[in-house]
Amino acid sequence: MRYLSTRGSAPVLDFRGATLAGLASDGGLYVPETWPTLTPEEIEGLAGLSYAQTAAKIMAPFVGDSLTRQELQDLCDTAYGRFSHAAVTPLVQLDHDQWLLELFHGPTLAFKDVALQMLGLLFERFLRGTDTRLTIVGATSGDTGSAAIDAVAGRANIDIFMLHPAGRVTEIQRRQMTTVLAPNVHNIAIEGNFDDAQALVKAMFNDRAFADRHTLSAVNSINWARLMAQVVYYFYAAVRLGAPGKRIAFSVPTGNFGDVFAGYVAARMGLPVERLIVATNVNDILHRALSSGDYSKGQVQATATPSMDIQVSSNFERLLFDANGRDGAALAAQMKGFEGSGAMRLTNAQSQAIAPLFTSARVDADDMSRAMRWAADEAGQILDPHTGIALSAARKSGLDVPVVTLATAHPAKFTDAVERATGSRPALPRRVGDLFEREERYTTLPATFDAVTAFIDGHGLR
Ligand SMILES: *Cc1c(COP(=O)(O)O)cnc(C)c1O
Repeated sequence: MRYLSTRGSAPVLDFRGATLAGLASDGGLYVPETWPTLTPEEIEGLAGLSYAQTAAKIMAPFVGDSLTRQELQDLCDTAYGRFSHAAVTPLVQLDHDQWLLELFHGPTLAFKDVALQMLGLLFERFLRGTDTRLTIVGATSGDTGSAAIDAVAGRANIDIFMLHPAGRVTEIQRRQMTTVLAPNVHNIAIEGNFDDAQALVKAMFNDRAFADRHTLSAVNSINWARLMAQVVYYFYAAVRLGAPGKRIAFSVPTGNFGDVFAGYVAARMGLPVERLIVATNVNDILHRALSSGDYSKGQVQATATPSMDIQVSSNFERLLFDANGRDGAALAAQMKGFEGSGAMRLTNAQSQAIAPLFTSARVDADDMSRAMRWAADEAGQILDPHTGIALSAARKSGLDVPVVTLATAHPAKFTDAVERATGSRPALPRRVGDLFEREERYTTLPATFDAVTAFIDGHGLR
């Protein structure tokens, strides 16, 4: 399988190359040259497989020659063996047609584990036998940092430097990062806010001299391998609900458009997906884009669902590319315009291509809380607020097929918001129980380029 950039001018790469590169050199994102498809019989054949077996089957055409089938199966067994539920992503029934797909049984209680556990193993495998040492630099406001650290802790040929804003992540989020004491993990508390931390990371990628000293890679950047790993649970869930004989809809709490794009890939591969519901909070750029073609940045408002508080949804570019007839040059011009002005209109062709599969909903705090209370009262399920946004959208969708809401975080990661909505305070699962007794290690640095780059120069294990 070959990978092309959505902006048409970066080198074409194989799976290994696209995984290590992350972002394409022309500013675009890598996508497979063609969408592999499964016949209805092949989809039926997934029914008896475990999650890890399903994962290897779905990923194989994307991986191509970069791994043998046995190597791919071994990586899937390792990645998904670390989840606390035997089904990895179990389904829970809420009422006749409403279902939850629990994606939070990984080591850090967030759905990002599903993709990052696999990505960490892929990095390690692809670096083995080379003299490349990868330096992952990232900024986090909470969840991505801990999932990325867990995924690469102790892995050969990789260092990770994760910047978080000092005092501005929750204690559980900080401890999930800082109690990982592997020598290749470096937590940096920046004396500033998340935007300062993110600006420092951008500056490092743009600094020629620094980038030449390190082989930089990003976990925030939108790596194709992350999306590929997320396609799996759409198949796994739909098959258990009767696909390919039955059509299934999915409601997805959306920020960067990665998770719901994976659902689009599943549909392109032949899964009978009735609808993908893009659920946003009041930061509704995607809802405006999908409902009226208006893709324009607003001011970010802080909400109880921080992972959806975004101005720009990077992965939306991948959908626009397909909806544009895969014209990289035209999309590059359209995206350049957006980067200049902060606004663009979808073309009619793009809107028409997107409309049959996608709907969207903007869910405010009241509707989110109402959905969380309904789940607690009617189905005995305590949801995290991100999941609450998507469930609200699912219940209002009026679809007459099974609707699966993706549950993206364990409620214990957002105890205050859950208590406000439902009156009950979720307990941390036992497997992270001693988090508050463990030793922490992190370095506090001023929010300056020189301080952070000097620290990274001095601490990589080279
Ligand atoms: C990252 C995240 C999301 C948003 O997912 P995208 O792929 O960025 O759209 C939703 N919920 C939670 C809990 C997350 O961590």
